[in-house]
This record gives sequence, structure tokens and C-alpha cells, in this order.
Amino acid sequence: MDDRLKQFIDSHERIFVLTGAGISTGSGIPDYRDRHGAWKHRKPMEYREFVASHAARQRYWTRSWFGWQRFSRARPNAAHHALARLEQLGRLSATVTQNVDGLQQLAGSRRVTELHGSLASVSCLACGETLARAAMQEVLSERNPWLPGLQGELAPDGDAEVAEIDVTRLRVPGCSACGGVLKPDVVFFGESVPPLRVQQCRAALAGSDALLVVGSSLMVFSGFRFVREACQRGIPVAAINRGKTRADELLQHKFDVDCALALTRLLRALAISA
Ligand SMILES: [Zn+2]
Repeated sequence: MDDRLKQFIDSHERIFVLTGAGISTGSGIPDYRDRHGAWKHRKPMEYREFVASHAARQRYWTRSWFGWQRFSRARPNAAHHALARLEQLGRLSATVTQNVDGLQQLAGSRRVTELHGSLASVSCLACGETLARAAMQEVLSERNPWLPGLQGELAPDGDAEVAEIDVTRLRVPGCSACGGVLKPDVVFFGESVPPLRVQQCRAALAGSDALLVVGSSLMVFSGFRFVREACQRGIPVAAINRGKTRADELLQHKFDVDCALALTRLLRALAISA
């Protein structure tokens, strides 16, 4: 990689960073899409399906129960640490992540907007009561002592491929306050990002002079819209991503390399110790 990334960072003062699944693959959380933007795993559950069907929720929570065992132990990697360092040094105006894993905050980033919410908590769709996802795991285990040990592949939302499990056996806990349906505090596919959250991100982008995309194929509109808006405002956009992105033709620079590698080299080039 040449020093175009360093030049891009050096020539802008207020950099808006948009991150996606690609920064967390190095932490053992797999990406949804391959280098061509196609689904690698089974498509994630849609909001409508989750809300409408008890059977769908049994399927979701069974997979999620497996996935959480590894998801909850994931730790930040060099890409997360590098972004935290850039924020501490005042190089970033804002960070918006499409990830729900909380790893950037664990690495020390303070100003992260979680566009798609967080897997760390669960809320009641009827009364709004919330509980920690870790507590939900305990209740799931108590109610379903027959669940076996760790198996299955981990997917980006903490869901997992579960083979040979009779999901219809799963007793799904309801809200302890009202008995309502519990849902993780993440934006499901087919669900909208809360408008206020989008507005805040757009305002931060308007006050920035460059957009750096890190580890996102931008296939989901909620992330792509920021690139489109940056272009409309004349804000230059660069992306670090392995493989194709939906915005390739809108990018001023494209770095088709591993995020951790690119950001570590960047810090070194900027003579900043991580
Ligand atoms: Zn409730």
C-alpha cells in the first residue's frame, strides 16, 4: 500500500469514520458478505418474521444462545485499537458503526454511534423494560437445561448455524414485568434505523471534511446513504475494505487490504504509537 491513506488523513482535519463487519473479522466475528458482496451465510432473520412468529423467535434465540458463548468473549483487535488511538488524538470528528459488537468502545473509542444498535441488551417490545443480554443468556439456560455445549458457526449478529437441534423445544423467556416479547436491541434486517439516530449522524457528517469507510461493503442502505450524502456535499470519501463495495465508483481512494494491517501501517506512518 502506498502513502495515499496517510495523505488522505493528513489533509483533512475532521474525519467521519464509518465502520462495518470487516473490522471485527480479526476478532473472530465473521463477515456477512464475501468479496463480491454476496451472502456467505444464510440470510439473517427479518424483523417482520421475528415479531410475528413464536417459532421464528424459538429459532432465533436457539441460535443466539450458541452464538453468544463466543460473541461475548470476542476482544478488540488492532483495527479497533488504531481507531481508538486516532480518536484520542483528535483526528476523528465522529465514528458511526454498523457493528453491534461493542468492540470499538471496548478498545477505548468514546464517541461511537451504533447505527444498528447493540447486542449487549434486550428490550420488551410491549413495555420497553430492558435487561442485559448476559442476563437473558442465564434465563435461557435455566429454562432450557437440555441445551448442549458449544457448537455451530458464529455469524456477525451473534446468531449461529445450529445443526441437529429441535428448536421447537426452546422455552423463550418473556418480559419479567409484563410477559411481552423480548427482542435484542439491534436493528434487524427489514427494520428501520431510528430517525433521530440517523439525523445525528447526518449532522456529524455535515460538520466533517472527509469520510473514511473501514471494513464495510456498504451493501446495506443505512451505511451507503452516508457515502452518497458525503458525495452530494462534496466531502471526499476513502474506503479500506477487502473486496468490492457498493460505492466503489464514488470513492476518491479505495484500499483493498485488511483493515488492521492498513490502520496499523497508517499509525506507523503518522508516527503514532498504538
Ligand atoms: Zn414488558
